[in-house]
Amino acid sequence: MARVSIIGAGTTGLVAAYALLRDGHEVTLYSDRTADEWLEGRPTGTAYLYGETIDVERELGMDHWSQDMFGGMGVLLDFKPELAGEAHMRVVGNWGSLGSGIDMRMRVHRWMNDLESRGGKLVIEAVTPERTDEIAQNSDVTMLAAGKADLGNLIPRDAVRSVYDKPQRNLAMVVVTGVTGWQKECGGFEPVKFNFFGDTGEYFWVPFTHKTHGATWCLLWEAKAGKAFDRFGECASGQDIVEISKELIKEHAPWEWENVKGMEYVTGDDFAWLIGRFPPTVREGFGRLPSGALIMPVGDTAIAFDPIGGQGGNNAQRMAKFVADRITAHEGKPFDAAWMKQVNDDWWYLHGKWAYEFNNLLLEPLEPAAAMLLEECAKNRLFADQKFFPNFPRPHNFFPAIVEPDAARELIARANTRA
Ligand SMILES: Cc1cc2nc3c(=O)[nH]c(=O)nc-3n(C[C@H](O)[C@H](O)[C@H](O)COP(=O)(O)OP(=O)(O)OC[C@H]3O[C@@H](n4cnc5c(N)ncnc54)[C@H](O)[C@@H]3O)c2cc1C
Repeated sequence: MARVSIIGAGTTGLVAAYALLRDGHEVTLYSDRTADEWLEGRPTGTAYLYGETIDVERELGMDHWSQDMFGGMGVLLDFKPELAGEAHMRVVGNWGSLGSGIDMRMRVHRWMNDLESRGGKLVIEAVTPERTDEIAQNSDVTMLAAGKADLGNLIPRDAVRSVYDKPQRNLAMVVVTGVTGWQKECGGFEPVKFNFFGDTGEYFWVPFTHKTHGATWCLLWEAKAGKAFDRFGECASGQDIVEISKELIKEHAPWEWENVKGMEYVTGDDFAWLIGRFPPTVREGFGRLPSGALIMPVGDTAIAFDPIGGQGGNNAQRMAKFVADRITAHEGKPFDAAWMKQVNDDWWYLHGKWAYEFNNLLLEPLEPAAAMLLEECAKNRLFADQKFFPNFPRPHNFFPAIVEPDAARELIARANTRA
């Protein structure tokens, strides 16, 4: 049994805690918010989780919502290379498992409240760098799961893996009712509805399960700085975001105006919206504190993804389970710097790197290979359903075809030969 401390009670910290408790470890979880503050406050994101990620919660006995969630099954994408141009491509594809953005506030609230009955200890404390050092000195392993909070700076940024040192998009998120959805266009399933404008930015709709309203939609804007969508910086309420969204969509995305014109901000929830920006950042495998004690990053503290590709929360929860399993496998041996680096590298090469590279591709002008694949998806639904969209939960499978034109051509040719 290891004595494990986890700093940060978001979804990452809690999945790690439950996995470790299941394996019999002694777990102390530090949170700067109480369970009720989590439930009644602002979420840190609105992660759409793929079925594979919800499986982690199912396996750990933490899933109390998926049987009733408002689920999504794939993607409907409208792509315009230029906001003002005529060219417009539409692609639909199924990724093969039901997922949803299940309101993390109700998940974290319940998981925090249940923690002690699972054998864990919860400490409400805004942990400082000095306290982190004390905690780490008194633990066999200390995981830092503080999301994108400043405490993450205790672990050096990995300059090689990070790619960006500045925010790539200005973000605005809001949860709404009154959207009719896109089932008809997708042949029966609700999609995550993407709209990509090569020169301006993106916005997308996520099937969302709100803590009190249930089936809702989460609308997320990804505005390139200074471009037409970059209008949310001064918003002071969810209603402000809704009003600007209506104006932008009516003008620039008439193809979906009928589906969304009835949108309204969710009632009775002052915090179902966010605006902000952050640089997508990868951290090194461990941080060394002044006493010499070590901490290891998990979830967003380890890899913070721009939300554009729906990878952050999915990476975070699976990484939490992966690191917890590795702690169990290593019991009785020293949890030293070499071990922490190895665990971090193993996760990076298994999943993190591919999710991060795929996600970053979406922030950049469309690569020729990716354009070929998307054009094939637009023509060939079977290709979209079998060769492209199922890779979203497993981004490793996008490579090399999504970046190498020869590999893309070969994939398309092989798929068409078989068909
Ligand atoms: C608008 C938006 C949309 C998103 N959409 C998606 C999506 O569709 N799909 C997807 O997979 N991902 C998405 N993400 C990313 C996803 O939300 C995050 O990856 C995920 O929430 C990270 O969880 P975490 O537990 O690592 O961090 P967090 O959720 O940030 O939790 C960190 C916790 O640590 C606590 N904390 C911080 N500092 C301290 C301290 N000093 N002491 C004690 N506690 C502390 C915080 O209060 C918080 O409770 C989105 C993100 C945003 C912003």
